[in-house]
Amino acid sequence: MKKRIAVLGSTGSIGTQTLDVVAHDPDRYQIEALAAGSNISLLLKQIDRFAPRLVSVANRELAREVELAAGRKTKVLYGDEGLIEAAAATDADLVVTAVVGSQGLKPTLAAIDAGKAIGLANKETLVTAGHLVSERAKAKGVPLLPIDSEHSAIFQCLNGESRQEVSKIILTASGGSFRSRSRAELEGVTVEEALRHPNWSMGAKITIDSATMVNKGLEVIEAHWLFGMPYDQIEVLLHPESVIHSMVEFRDHSVMAQLGNPDMRVPIQYALTYPARRPTPTEPLRLAEIGKLHFKEMDFERYPCLAMAYECGRTGGTMPTIFNAANEVAVARFLRGEIAFLDIEEVISRTMERHTPVHTPDLDDIVEADRWAREAAGR
Ligand code: NDP
Ligand code: MG
Repeated sequence: MKKRIAVLGSTGSIGTQTLDVVAHDPDRYQIEALAAGSNISLLLKQIDRFAPRLVSVANRELAREVELAAGRKTKVLYGDEGLIEAAAATDADLVVTAVVGSQGLKPTLAAIDAGKAIGLANKETLVTAGHLVSERAKAKGVPLLPIDSEHSAIFQCLNGESRQEVSKIILTASGGSFRSRSRAELEGVTVEEALRHPNWSMGAKITIDSATMVNKGLEVIEAHWLFGMPYDQIEVLLHPESVIHSMVEFRDHSVMAQLGNPDMRVPIQYALTYPARRPTPTEPLRLAEIGKLHFKEMDFERYPCLAMAYECGRTGGTMPTIFNAANEVAVARFLRGEIAFLDIEEVISRTMERHTPVHTPDLDDIVEADRWAREAAGR
């Protein structure tokens, strides 16, 4: 039987690569629902190709436009409710969460409540409400299958292993677009320069997050929740080639690593086919051609956002929500040219300073903390 899939954020970097994986193995998959923001021309092509029963877009006007062009076979919804329906109200077995930002939280919770497996790309969801998401997934017996390449690597290294025997998780970090620059050389960098990632082609927000190392900070918190690992057993290692996607060290000091060319279609497909593996269009890894791999200890002074992320993770409660929301606002402001690159960390740290965390927050507390942080960071 075909695996039935819903893709939230189908027009983005992860969304389009997910559909590419599906298109390479069309007999295995049926697309049930697609949700996009405002890229209607691409969404219409996707509707034509994959014939989803339901689609959702950002707002009513766009929904109207899609309805007129797509015909009656596709149900068209919009807004937060549309996104939630796309996540939960179809026959999908698995939902790929590839919208960007904490707007991924409610649809992910809805999909879990509806008993759907989650192909988790949207890391902001776990950062903002890790305890709620992991508790609910556990209670529902729903798997959270990581798509983020580092977490997919760790997930693979832990296959069949006992968590008690893990001494640490080692997340690798490429260093992002400014890795060869000192802090002083970050003054006045442009948006275009920041968007030029050396190894990966990704959406704008995560590309900026990679340059500030916020992305790795979000991934540390994501790893904490996905693998139940305390923060002092999660380490970050600079590895400019992005060939080793991450590693696990066991108590006998044996280290397992997962390697491959930097191509997100591999971890995406693994989440779709787990526990099986299928051929991919990805080039095989040719280590002899690469010759050397490099590693460097993480420099927390060069990348203060990573230190802030660890601090937020350890504080817990609503603090990671604040870190994430302040960062989302700061990145959007940087992309609009309103603030400088180095102001991103300033916005995050000032917002964190002003927040009194709520411990064991419920969903309302999280929504309120997220709202507060967005307002504070926007000023
Ligand atoms: P993109 O910016 O490329 O894509 C975001 C997607 O979300 C687009 O399809 C966009 O639609 C959609 N979207 C925006 N607003 C809405 C809305 N209101 N309702 C429904 N959909 C909406 O992001 P990425 O693909 O790069 O990243 C997605 C997530 O995956 C992020 O959380 C990121 O951290 C994570 N991730 C990404 C990786 C990558 O390689 N790109 C690697 C690991 C994790 P539209 O364009 O139509 O407006
Ligand atoms: Mg990653």
